[in-house]
Amino acid sequence: MKLSIRTVAIIGAGTMGAGIAQVCAQTGYKTNLFDAFPEGLEKGMEVINDFWEKGIARGKTTPEQKAKWSQNVQAVSDLKGAVSNADLVIEAVPEIPELKHRIFVDLHKYAPPHCILATNTSGLSITDIANASGRSDKVIGMHFFNPVPIMKLLELIRADTTSDETAALAESIGKAMGKTTIMVNDIAGFATSRLGVVLGNEAIRMLAEGVASASDIDTAMTLGYRHPMGPLELTDLVGLDVRHHILENLAKAHDDDRYIPHPLLSALVKAGDLGKKSGSGIYNWKSGEKQNRDDLPL
Ligand code: NAD
Repeated sequence: MKLSIRTVAIIGAGTMGAGIAQVCAQTGYKTNLFDAFPEGLEKGMEVINDFWEKGIARGKTTPEQKAKWSQNVQAVSDLKGAVSNADLVIEAVPEIPELKHRIFVDLHKYAPPHCILATNTSGLSITDIANASGRSDKVIGMHFFNPVPIMKLLELIRADTTSDETAALAESIGKAMGKTTIMVNDIAGFATSRLGVVLGNEAIRMLAEGVASASDIDTAMTLGYRHPMGPLELTDLVGLDVRHHILENLAKAHDDDRYIPHPLLSALVKAGDLGKKSGSGIYNWKSGEKQNRDDLPL
């Protein structure tokens, strides 16, 4: 019998988790948002509320829609409580293999046996995560893009063990959310991150070599190659820490130096310059607009 999704739990209420929870609530799913840190959970709920408020101010969302969607999403402060009645769990914690593996062990312990366990990893092995979980046929990669409510793509990644039923269900969930899905095999970096981080890392190398300013490198790609956003601005939007993790994981998984994070990226992460979310990254965002920096640790 085909499983119908009523309740979804989102693990991690950061950039991605909050966006995924918002889309789940808008799709009509009862959505439990969990974060290990109270301030992370509070911020995630705030981000969702602000998005809907802005939608009302712009005439894109009605107050009635917001009221209905708000009823669908709740903050839950313990993992067990968040997942114990879930039909689908989507994990969106930082890109650290041991952390994700540990969480999937707990998810298997607390979620009902029928529940599908999905990960929003940008590039880690879904098969390794599935094997850690104890229900490897019900694990799949559901890779959303930032900002989740706006980006159309949902990259689905089948572990070697993912069942046809789980894959078909993930496709139908994506469709219900209004996303376009692609199905990708479980090779580290998948179809998106592998290309995206190489472009971003190379753009950082060019910046460090003095090829051009950050904004001119970005304009080269927006106007010359019709990318909607340049690779440096995109790195600031995604988060430098997030991209750094992805590159390190890819360098290990493919045993290939081309994925080693450029030292400028590592230095910025070390300095806490994580991109738009921290006020500065490759650009300075403190005024609300992106500005080239003349204080980069070059
Ligand atoms: P983030 O740092 O914004 O959010 C991570 C959240 O997880 C934080 O709120 C943190 O408090 C919480 N957390 C940490 N440990 C936890 C635990 N043990 N249990 C529950 N919550 C915990 O990160 P993000 O950008 O949202 O990325 C999350 C995942 O999504 C990563 O795997 C990343 O690679 C992937 N991803 C990110 C983007 C992007 O553009 N940022 C895009 C696609 C996929």
